[in-house]
Amino acid sequence: MRSKEENSKLAQLLFPEIKETPKDMFVKYPRRDLQSGQLVVRFAPSPTGYLHLGSVYTSLIDRRLADQTNGVCILRIEDTDKRREVEGGVDLIINGLSDFGIKFDESINSGNYGPYLQSEREDIYKVFAKDMVSRDVAYPCFASPDELDDIRKKQEELGVRTGYYGNFAKWRDASFEDIMKQLDSGKEFVIRLRSTGNFEEKFEFDDKIKGRCTFSENDMDLVLLKSDGLPTYHFAHPIDDTLMGVNLVIRTTEWFPSIPIHLEIFEKLQFEQIDYAHPSPLMKMDNGNKRKLSKRKDPEADARYFFNHGYPTVAILEYFLNIMNSNFSDWRRENPEKEYTEFELKLKKFNRAGALFDMTKLENVCKEYVARLSAQEVYDHIFRWAQKYDSELVKRMEENREYCIKILNIEREGDQIRKDIVKWEDAYDQFSIFFDDMYEELDRAALPENIEKEDVKKIIDMFLDTYDMGDSTDVWFSKIKDIGNELGYTSDYKAFNANPEEFKGKVGDVAMVLRIALTKKSKTPDLHQVMRVLGKEKVEERLRKFMI
Ligand code: GLU
Repeated sequence: MRSKEENSKLAQLLFPEIKETPKDMFVKYPRRDLQSGQLVVRFAPSPTGYLHLGSVYTSLIDRRLADQTNGVCILRIEDTDKRREVEGGVDLIINGLSDFGIKFDESINSGNYGPYLQSEREDIYKVFAKDMVSRDVAYPCFASPDELDDIRKKQEELGVRTGYYGNFAKWRDASFEDIMKQLDSGKEFVIRLRSTGNFEEKFEFDDKIKGRCTFSENDMDLVLLKSDGLPTYHFAHPIDDTLMGVNLVIRTTEWFPSIPIHLEIFEKLQFEQIDYAHPSPLMKMDNGNKRKLSKRKDPEADARYFFNHGYPTVAILEYFLNIMNSNFSDWRRENPEKEYTEFELKLKKFNRAGALFDMTKLENVCKEYVARLSAQEVYDHIFRWAQKYDSELVKRMEENREYCIKILNIEREGDQIRKDIVKWEDAYDQFSIFFDDMYEELDRAALPENIEKEDVKKIIDMFLDTYDMGDSTDVWFSKIKDIGNELGYTSDYKAFNANPEEFKGKVGDVAMVLRIALTKKSKTPDLHQVMRVLGKEKVEERLRKFMI
């Protein structure tokens, strides 16, 4: 055992450059002046080269809870794992989240509790490591990877838990002289926690999402500072969150098993405990099995997928709120006009079973969202998307602004609002029937098989004879009915169902001929409105051309 004096001497030898104490740190980062209920939360990603959709999910929880309590939402970049770091990774996260409308009150360039980049906080961690060594709750460990491997093998032979703990933790009680010898020889070392936990002892813990859970105490002497002087996650988390005044740590479930470690490190640092909420990560169904959304297997795990295709970002957030609190969909139905930010997200209502991400459901939410927008708003969204992804589309939209808005306004008024736009990329599909060059490129859908060849010509001729741009929808349709009845395509569906062989088909077939002749497609928005937007000239020209 080392004496008190030896431990302070050791601390000084290990960290000679560190002059400040934990007390100084708390003077530098004073307690925040908070009203009761105000939350200080943080999103703490590691820059790994892309923005995972799960990061959008988690940071949305942070942002909402901070806003709902008039609190603070911090962005902290956890860049201490230099091997995993990718250039430009930080901007990708900040800009990506900002494109989703998720912004931070304190971030790498603003705030009084920084630096917000962990790699710039090295000395802060050392202040606490030094203090811990001097209090003998942490110590230098010189075990080489080979030695650690030997310990593990021995543990496996003995059939006990593997890890650096208890009697296996060879350096925890090393003499001052032994340690000095290693330091003098310039041997690499790490700083480890000196755990006092007992694995046989259980304790209860309340998670703000998961509720009450039971854990075994930690007894592992975990690494706090790596040999490069940078902290492990286990060490950085309590220090950063405490000094930044965070009072609720929201992070994915993968960290949940580390609770015993973190609680012990908080205690050994003499910090007050902070509340935790561990939401489930985004999962996906794969061949009947639930699994985590994976960057390798799922293109949609990378948020860029949604930007590239132009999914409405707000709709994605709304879908996430839906996954988090299932009452969101009822709220949305009752409050179609409100912003999603008016919904009160509740940790208690989180679905504990998991967060299932379903692309079809997301697309439905997108459709509903776009259906709530005006044609002008849809135009603006598509335009902004195109500015990033397709300059030709931008030009087309600029030169034909009013026409495009008219196209987007089809079936956007009245009770039956169109729900055929999921994402801004669908603009191509929307516009293609209205622009001749795009229309030329389309493949023509097959005509209904029951339509006789000569009837196609007759239908078109008869329609052109009576076509009047000013017709109301009712008049327009009654003219089509008349054509049908004359040629044997009935509008009496009852009669048709009773005796189908008496008719060539139904009036719908007549409309289908006109639809395909005009648009080449078998599915379009309301045909009468399509004709109105196309205009008399184009309608007549296309119908005539079709006959040739
Ligand atoms: N950097 C950690 C991660 O990306 C953060 C976990 C946390 O939020 O504390 O998993």
